[in-house]
Amino acid sequence: ASLFGAIDMAPRDPILGITEAFNADTNPAKINLGVGVYYDDNGKVPLLECVQKAESKLMEQQAPRTYLPIEGLAQYDKAVQELVFGADSPVIQEKRAVTVQALGGTGGLKIGADFLKRFAPDSQVYISDPSWENHRALFESAGFVVNHYTYYDPATHGVNFEGMLASLKSMPQGSIVVLHACCHNPTGADLTQEQWGAVIEAVKAGGLIPFLDMAYQGFGSGIAEDGAVVGRFVQAGGPLLVSNSFSKSFSLYGERVGALSVVASSAEEAARLLSQLKRVVRTNYSNPPVHGGKVVATVLSTPELRQLWEDELAHMRVRIKQMRDALVEKLKAKAPGHDFDFVRKQVGMFSYSGLTKEQVAKLRAESIYAVDTGRICVAALNSKNIDRVVDAIAKVL
Ligand code: PMP
Repeated sequence: ASLFGAIDMAPRDPILGITEAFNADTNPAKINLGVGVYYDDNGKVPLLECVQKAESKLMEQQAPRTYLPIEGLAQYDKAVQELVFGADSPVIQEKRAVTVQALGGTGGLKIGADFLKRFAPDSQVYISDPSWENHRALFESAGFVVNHYTYYDPATHGVNFEGMLASLKSMPQGSIVVLHACCHNPTGADLTQEQWGAVIEAVKAGGLIPFLDMAYQGFGSGIAEDGAVVGRFVQAGGPLLVSNSFSKSFSLYGERVGALSVVASSAEEAARLLSQLKRVVRTNYSNPPVHGGKVVATVLSTPELRQLWEDELAHMRVRIKQMRDALVEKLKAKAPGHDFDFVRKQVGMFSYSGLTKEQVAKLRAESIYAVDTGRICVAALNSKNIDRVVDAIAKVL
């Protein structure tokens, strides 16, 4: 028998499976709402102008492609810290935060998971119910037992906050709790500022290890507004891990630009911590790629490009909100008696639409693709396809 003869087929990725089915569909009117990608009103993934300008600048420099340091480009790591923690954060002034460039937000999570497995090996991980589908697999692959905490309430299409708090309070001390900093994927249901306060208190009181996943900074209320929760965790004290991603906010999905930041209790502890994070990186892929990090660092540290980025990101954020409004208004007209107002309260790229698996299957027969859970990507709606989507939804309700 061959060495690999008995290997099972691994389960298909549920989201990528939708894209495969979509790609194979020959209907020219097909619409993919299953993805986690921002499309512009013409249905295209934008190449941001700030990115193009930074790339032109970099092309002129004709720089050699040497290895980056293990922790990534220094200018990038600094810019990430200022964005994630706020430029005047005490953890930056006191040199208590360490940041390593990572392969997207996923890479940041995985470096954090591998690091935690070494230094909190007996802790278990808690993710929201439901959560981004890769959270469980990623932390399990790092060797952790992964559990859920209560989060979504289908009855209100919002957060079951009592349930969430009760879950947090029942976790053993030292548990690792993965929290979506903003724009919860897949539900679009975020915590209020007051609720964050209670979560931070419970995390602190329970001696939990918070790991913030911030993949959508700027898609909720604004860059600083969305990032404010990180500052609140910092203020509360204690350990903190934050992964962040520029996949969506810079529309740089394939460049794999993200980071992991960890807050230590002193500069001296931070230095030891960084040395261990570097060990994780070194044994996985040695050091990160140059291009995406340079583009993001250039934009963030050049005032005109930075302003352009903020404007372009605001444009994406506003367009998604307009699509939420349009979806609600059009469904009101086409499907009276069905209340979709909750879609307006949801935040970020996604909406848990409340559509059932059967209804999603019926939409698929019309070449409209959504996730079985009813998750739709609002950022894939546009002025040309929304009427067809609304008509199809009204028909399956
Ligand atoms: N976390 C969440 C919640 C996400 O939705 C995503 C992207 N879908 C990621 C992390 C990973 O982002 P990246 O593509 O930058 O690895």
